[in-house]
Amino acid sequence: MSDATPHAGFGRPGLTAFARLDGLGLAVIGQRLEPGRVALACRVVEADGWCRRCGAEGLARDTVVRRLAHEPLGWRPTTLEVAKRRYQCRECGHVWRQDTSLAAEPRAKLSRRGQLMVKLIDSISSGVPKALTEIVTLGRTLKKRAADVLAYFDRPKAHPTDQPRRSTADSNTSAAAHSASAT
Ligand SMILES: [Zn+2]
Repeated sequence: MSDATPHAGFGRPGLTAFARLDGLGLAVIGQRLEPGRVALACRVVEADGWCRRCGAEGLARDTVVRRLAHEPLGWRPTTLEVAKRRYQCRECGHVWRQDTSLAAEPRAKLSRRGQLMVKLIDSISSGVPKALTEIVTLGRTLKKRAADVLAYFDRPKAHPTDQPRRSTADSNTSAAAHSASAT
């Protein structure tokens, strides 16, 4: 039997690190495995609860879900369902949403790692020297199969990126993830 102790360099298994979401400011709080695809419910790690206008504390009002196509994990197209809090300033009434710029460009449908994947597919599907026939073929195949590789492309309109949710307490994040899955 192999040695799975910290001494041998092993830590606890964790989806956040495995899906490389710690670098995107997200933490995985749930998974939904379907045949051929996976959705990961995430929360934003930084609370971001202080007013950007006057610096006073904000009240969490509700949560909206932002969907992002991520890089495929285990050959399955992977979607992130990111729960973003919406705050209102106690002092000036300003309303804002939790910052997710570490995870994705504003309004993007792809996470930053999903975007890298698109760049990779683009770069090996064009401009590869013809002598590298296997790479050329792989590039063409990936381009054709981009819809399968990146979850976003096959249903861009069925899932608006932001949908208002009723306010849920922290203990209810799994319920929010569940209701997101119903849409
Ligand atoms: Zn304010």
